[in-house]
Amino acid sequence: MAASASTCSTGEEIERCDVLVIGGGPAGSTAAALLARAGRAVVLAEKDHFPRFHIGESLLPANVPLLDELGVRAALDRAGTIVKHGARVVSADGRTGTTVRFSEGLLPGPATTYQVERAQFDELLLRNACGFGADVREGTTAREVEHRDGIWQATLAQDDRPSRRIEAHHVVDASGRDGVLARVWQSRRMLEHHRRVAVFSHYRGVLLDPGIDAGNTVLALFADAWFWLIPISPEVTSVGVVFDSAAWQAAGLAPEAALERAILNAPEVSRRLATAERVAPIRVTGDYSYRSTIVARDGAVLAGDAFAFLDPVFSSGVWLAMRSGERVARVLDRCLARPERARSLLARHGRREHRVHRHFWRLIEGFYSPGFRDLLMQPQPRLGLAAAVRTALAGTVSYDPRFRLRLALFLGLTRLQGRCGLSPPIPLTAALAAPEPLAEDAVALQA
Ligand SMILES: Cc1cc2nc3c(=O)[nH]c(=O)nc-3n(C[C@H](O)[C@H](O)[C@H](O)COP(=O)(O)OP(=O)(O)OC[C@H]3O[C@@H](n4cnc5c(N)ncnc54)[C@H](O)[C@@H]3O)c2cc1C
Repeated sequence: MAASASTCSTGEEIERCDVLVIGGGPAGSTAAALLARAGRAVVLAEKDHFPRFHIGESLLPANVPLLDELGVRAALDRAGTIVKHGARVVSADGRTGTTVRFSEGLLPGPATTYQVERAQFDELLLRNACGFGADVREGTTAREVEHRDGIWQATLAQDDRPSRRIEAHHVVDASGRDGVLARVWQSRRMLEHHRRVAVFSHYRGVLLDPGIDAGNTVLALFADAWFWLIPISPEVTSVGVVFDSAAWQAAGLAPEAALERAILNAPEVSRRLATAERVAPIRVTGDYSYRSTIVARDGAVLAGDAFAFLDPVFSSGVWLAMRSGERVARVLDRCLARPERARSLLARHGRREHRVHRHFWRLIEGFYSPGFRDLLMQPQPRLGLAAAVRTALAGTVSYDPRFRLRLALFLGLTRLQGRCGLSPPIPLTAALAAPEPLAEDAVALQA
C-alpha cells in the first residue's frame, strides 16, 4: 500500500503512512518487507545509496529460515554465496584448536549458513523490501523524529530534492549505531569493560581449510585480542582483529602497523596470509557494546543495532537485527489492527527483546573469560555440553530445558575452569607485543 499525502494549514504538503522505517540495513529491510507484505503502507528512509560497504559478513544458521521466509535464499545460492558449516577456533600460535560444526548441535536446526559481502547482501534485502511494496527512499535522512499530538512526525531530508514532512502511526528505528531515537530518549547504556577496537580489510588468496570447512570462519585467539578470517567469495577473505582497548592504547600504533604486528604475532594467521594480498583499504571502528534501556515508546520501536550492539565475536549481529526486524513487523501489524492493545503488545515485545539479548550477552561475556576459551578449544563430549554450545553458536534461541540446562552447566564450568583449572589452561599470547630484539650475533651477521 502506498503512502498518501495531504496539505496542512501552513500550505506544506505532509505525507502519511502506517509505518516509517529509519534505516535500510538488515533490521530495517526485514521489518519493511514483512510490513509491506502484510499490506501496510511503509516508507523506508535510508541515508546512504546502496550498494554501500558494511562490516559484519558472517551469518548464523538460525538466520536461514528467515532468509527463506523473505524469499532471498535462492538469490544467494544463485550468486554462489559462500556456505559456512561452522568455525575453526584456534589459539593465535596455532597450537590448540577445534572445529565447531553446526551439524553436530544438540537441537535440530539448519546445519549451514552463509558468509556474505554486506554491500551485496544488504542491497538484496533492500530491493526485496521494495519488491514487497515498501516505499524505499535512498539518499534520505530521517531528522526531527518526534511524537506530537498522538502521531509520529519526521523530516525526510533528501540528497537531491527538497525535504518533506511525513506522519506515521508507528516508527521503526533501525538506524544502526546512529541510534536516532535512543539518542533523543538518552536510553543507550554502554556495557562497560567491553570497549574494543576493530581493524580490518579484505585479502585475496588466503589459505583456507580443505573440503566443507573452506567456508568456515577462523577465530584465532590472543590473550587480549582475536582475529576473524571470513571467506566472502572464492577469492576474497575478510580479515580483522579486535583488540582490547587497553592493549590498543598502550601500543600506540597506527591501524596498519597494529594489524601487521598482530599478523606477525599470530603464526596461525601469518601462515594463512603468507601468499595473500590486501585488496581493500584498512578500516578501523570502535567495537563497543551497548543496549538501550527502552525498546518501544509511544508506538515507536527500536530494532537491530539501534536497540543493542553486542560484541561481534559470535557473528550474532545480522541475525539479531533481522530477527528483531521480523518481530517488530509482526507486533506493529497487530498494533495497527488493534490500536487499543498497542501499549501492552509493545511492552511484551520489549521484555522479549531484553531476554534474547541477555541470552547472547551471557555467551559473549563468557567468551572474554579465559575459562570459556579453554573449554571451547578443548570440547568435552560428556553430557552433551559441547553439542549444546554448538547449538548456541548457531544462534538458536530456544527455551528447551535440555539446551538451557546444559548451556548453564557449561557456563558454570567455564567459571570453575577460570578459578581452579579443570582442564589444562591454554597459554595465549599478547597481540601487540613488540618483536623480540635481534640477538647481537644476528645483528652482526646482518651488518
Ligand atoms: C567489527 C565488527 C564486526 C562485525 N562482524 C559481524 C559478523 O561477522 N556477523 C554479524 O552478524 N554481525 C557482525 N557485526 C555486527 C553487524 O554489522 C550489525 O549488527 C548489523 O549490521 C546490524 O544491522 P542493522 O540493520 O541494525 O544496522 P545497520 O546494518 O548498521 O543499518 C543501519 C542503516 O541505517 C542507516 N541510517 C542511519 N541513520 C539514519 C537516518 N537518520 N536516516 C536514514 N537512514 C539512517 C544507515 O545508513 C544504515 O544503512 C559486526 C560489527 C562490527 C563493528
